Amino acid sequence: MNPTSRRAFLQAAGAAPVANRLAAQTRVPAAGVWQGLPPSQVGGILGDRLALWRGKRLWHAVKSPFLLEGFESPPGSHPWQGEHSGKWLHAATLAFEQTRDRAILRALENTVRRLIASQQSNGYIGTYAPALRFCAPPGRHSRSSWDVWTARYVLYGLLSYEQFHPDETIVRACVRLGELLLNTYGPGKADLTSVGTRHGLSSTVLLESILMLYERSRERRFLEFAQQIHESMEANPHLRLVATLTSTQDVSAPGDGKAYQLMAVLLGYVRLFRHTGQTDYLSAVTRAWERIRNEHTFVTGGPWAYKSDAVKNHECFARPEYFHPANLVETCSTTTWVQLSLELLKLTGEAKYGEEAERALLNHLIGAQAPNGRDWAYYSAANTTKRDYNDVLHCCGSSGPRALEVYACHLIGAAGDALSLNTYLPLSARIDLPQIPVRGVRIEGRYPFESRAIVRFEMDRPARFAVDFRLPSGGMQMRVKIGGVEQKPDPQASGFLRLTRTWKPNDVVEVQFEFPLRATIQRGRDGRDWAAFTLGPIALAQGSPTPSDDSPIVRPAASDPTAGQAWLELLQTAEPGFRIKGTQYTLMPYSRAGSDGSSVRTYFPLEPERRK
Ligand SMILES: [Zn+2]
Repeated sequence: MNPTSRRAFLQAAGAAPVANRLAAQTRVPAAGVWQGLPPSQVGGILGDRLALWRGKRLWHAVKSPFLLEGFESPPGSHPWQGEHSGKWLHAATLAFEQTRDRAILRALENTVRRLIASQQSNGYIGTYAPALRFCAPPGRHSRSSWDVWTARYVLYGLLSYEQFHPDETIVRACVRLGELLLNTYGPGKADLTSVGTRHGLSSTVLLESILMLYERSRERRFLEFAQQIHESMEANPHLRLVATLTSTQDVSAPGDGKAYQLMAVLLGYVRLFRHTGQTDYLSAVTRAWERIRNEHTFVTGGPWAYKSDAVKNHECFARPEYFHPANLVETCSTTTWVQLSLELLKLTGEAKYGEEAERALLNHLIGAQAPNGRDWAYYSAANTTKRDYNDVLHCCGSSGPRALEVYACHLIGAAGDALSLNTYLPLSARIDLPQIPVRGVRIEGRYPFESRAIVRFEMDRPARFAVDFRLPSGGMQMRVKIGGVEQKPDPQASGFLRLTRTWKPNDVVEVQFEFPLRATIQRGRDGRDWAAFTLGPIALAQGSPTPSDDSPIVRPAASDPTAGQAWLELLQTAEPGFRIKGTQYTLMPYSRAGSDGSSVRTYFPLEPERRK
């Protein structure tokens, strides 16, 4: 990464101080405490999956006329067709930063040029016919328009690209589009929540992009517009995100609980907190995050949804009692969940957010990516009769790669003066920070399929600094040895373990964890109890189960029913492989189960408990 790019990345990561009078009053500094350090190389399963996207889907998407024809010859043929170019620009920009592949750069430049060339004289960039545009006279456009949604992604994509490729032409185009939105929905203008689906929730995802525009342009009117979007939401009894989510209410309430959109708005609130220091914005986000993690995710980390009543659809959060293994996870939701968790990691430095991003990425997200690299699944349940991989340019196929690329930028980081290890996936990274006296880091091993890794630092001479280690999601008992000598890292309030010492150039740091087998039992909306199994960060599942082979499993007579070894026996396979005792059900990592497009079973019905 060149110095300009690195500066831009650090700004994007929130490392730049945000001057704010209110922020000083809060426990969490609005500028954030953790910054991702993008690696120069990623190996292992994430490296494989990044290569698949960069080699296949990236080109499949950009070569499709569907990406830009709606902008160049409006109207488009699909209501949210316009989101794809922005999503692609975001993911492909990060791909170029890692690969420096000139062909990707040319495709980026071409896409940006054509998108900007499609801008109308009034500033509009979109795919709608003139009479149906958000800026048309009130009452002309449809209540369910996705035009503002499109603008959210146009701004997001262009500004993401421009962070690494400074260009005033792009900024001017974004300001003109932002101005048109401001003149339509800004203070004293029409109510933004009067357009878009789910009581306007789909339009309020604009919040994050308007704040990106404020950060780049430093024009205060865009910050005021962001505040206005917040006020419009709070004035709408069906939304009221901050009031609802800081109360005892569930995430299934505001905006009908539309999962992807709700989490996308929360991303906007993380930024709004950064700029205002208003603690209730942060509380709304962190409380929602806790609820989603505790009550709305599968063991795979995927946030599930369910049509629990007439006003909802199967992409809306439902109350926790509607849990069922067949509930759907939209890949856009998993992506936004990974993004939200990483934003909270940067803001608070707390390990739990890194853990959750890891769980979702290593299981549910990569399970939605087909091994051919081109296809993605729109939905993927924990138990499904078909992994529905396809090459359609749908919202999810455009979202998934963004999660891969964004996650890859947060594998290691800096927490103040400490080097922070947020993963043990194999990688190498160059480090160019004054407070951390190493030139680079290398991690070796087969994590997460092995419970150990080797870490080496590139340095010219011994130096004293702190290294933070994160216990893997689902892991226990981390041991750190240097030259065979066991170290004693100190637990931090952040949840990381810190080792401060004088490190030497040839130190070989061996990190070892316990990856316990765990059983999770959950009552489904069908009244049955379902069991699922995890090995450290890896969710286990049966690939291609035959539909007729669905007899329930029997609870082991163990004192601790969550102890996985009471349920499972180990198989002698190269990757983690198990059989559920007393059955022919064999388990492998969820992400690979059914990866030929066939069926997957992650949760197994339990034999009803006999009444005593
Ligand atoms: Zn989607």
